[in-house]
Amino acid sequence: MFDFAQSKRKEALKDHCGVFGIYAPGEDVAKITYYALHSLQHRGQEAAGISVSDGSNIKSIKKIGLVTGVFNDRNLAKLKGFMAVGHNRYSTTGSNTKNNIQPIIISDKGQSFAVAHNGNIVNAGELADKLNGTERMSTSDTEVLALSIFQRKEKTWGEKILNSTSDLKGAYSIVASSKDTLFAFRDPWGFRPLTIGKLSGYFVIASETCALDTIGATYLRDVAPGEVISINKKGLTTVGKIRRKQMNYCLFEYVYLARPDSIMNNVLVHQVRQRSGEILAKEAPVKADLVVAIPDSGTSSALGYSQASGIPFGEILIKNRYIGRTFISPEQHIREQGVKMKFNPMKQIVEGKRIIVVDDSIVRGTTMRQIVEVLKKCGAKKIHLRICSPPVRWPCFFGVDTPERRQLIASDKTVRQINDFIGADTLKYLSLSGLIRASKQKSNTLCTACFSGKYPMKVDMSFKKNVFESAC
Ligand code: SF4
Repeated sequence: MFDFAQSKRKEALKDHCGVFGIYAPGEDVAKITYYALHSLQHRGQEAAGISVSDGSNIKSIKKIGLVTGVFNDRNLAKLKGFMAVGHNRYSTTGSNTKNNIQPIIISDKGQSFAVAHNGNIVNAGELADKLNGTERMSTSDTEVLALSIFQRKEKTWGEKILNSTSDLKGAYSIVASSKDTLFAFRDPWGFRPLTIGKLSGYFVIASETCALDTIGATYLRDVAPGEVISINKKGLTTVGKIRRKQMNYCLFEYVYLARPDSIMNNVLVHQVRQRSGEILAKEAPVKADLVVAIPDSGTSSALGYSQASGIPFGEILIKNRYIGRTFISPEQHIREQGVKMKFNPMKQIVEGKRIIVVDDSIVRGTTMRQIVEVLKKCGAKKIHLRICSPPVRWPCFFGVDTPERRQLIASDKTVRQINDFIGADTLKYLSLSGLIRASKQKSNTLCTACFSGKYPMKVDMSFKKNVFESAC
């Protein structure tokens, strides 16, 4: 039995972080944050943390593991207060240490500041140089950012944050708290999502709308790119906004990163994926008996391909739903000890069929090669691969953990050469214009850098990662 899921997790562009914040006196804010983080688990599966303020102190519980493994009734009951900040972490290689787990807390002279970050600060090195030798406890760019804000001379936290943002370069969707106020702020490019919801008359902030749905909150609006928001007993206030001419929302959120039931920029992610399958069916038609998805990321797109082509959608891989979630760790040797989720290919259905396999993306190509090999062993007559995004040719510097450029199979190979490696009968990718059309966004409001190489800001291609580890 071939472990598709484990292999796919190893190869995929890694989910980044999930953040959540709530200001709700009288509510069990720790428990609500727990449920929200659980629904954002797909954005980070290596560590989780919740910080709660009671007005005098900020208390935290942070550990390596999934949300359900880190928190329980007993430890959540210790987090009493009216405001919480939560974080799910996906770390980059080697950075999965306890001190890097968020929220990062900075405390000094009676002041405390908790920060949960989704993104990557491209100029963390420059910012660290300005900290004048301040001792740091972690290797995370988030701590550098938090210290930069903490050490500013302005009188209010809102001013400190707003004036700091003009020094920050890169991707950040952040939820933070002082002892009495919750803050949410987003980079002026708007790379990563950040939404505002309302729950029982109070405000919540979440990476994706699926978290709002889970806790019963109503979606109000997104935190605008460049906006700094404060939430306290006076209600929700926009402290200020850094303006930029153009936003650069991450196109890959629609392809793979976000949950299909989340709404991003007024479109349901599932529908974007379905449309991308429909468009691909028109761009790259082929005669076949069955359209199948690699569970679960290719499912919405495979449905779209099937509907547009008239070729029936079917399942050939059965997932064992009673095996617990695999613990995802950046270290290879730890990964291999993780609990494996199994998928069993149904030979009886595959045998003698011409099969269209739909997936969201190809990163290194090794997983797809294994899948093709297994389907051939099961007797597939033809295997046509249809990928619902363009070739990933360039690394991401804005909060998604991509391999170095040379490890991306499309960085130096043509589609024909990629297929020679994978071994399918045909391989076709969705065009960039097709994907943008599926997203229903204007092309000049999107970051497409990992597909096009057109980065919205200057990046140092000589090293893939910052000296500082990305938050996620
Ligand atoms: S480079 Fe790709 S993954 Fe990174 S922000 Fe841009 S579109 Fe998203």
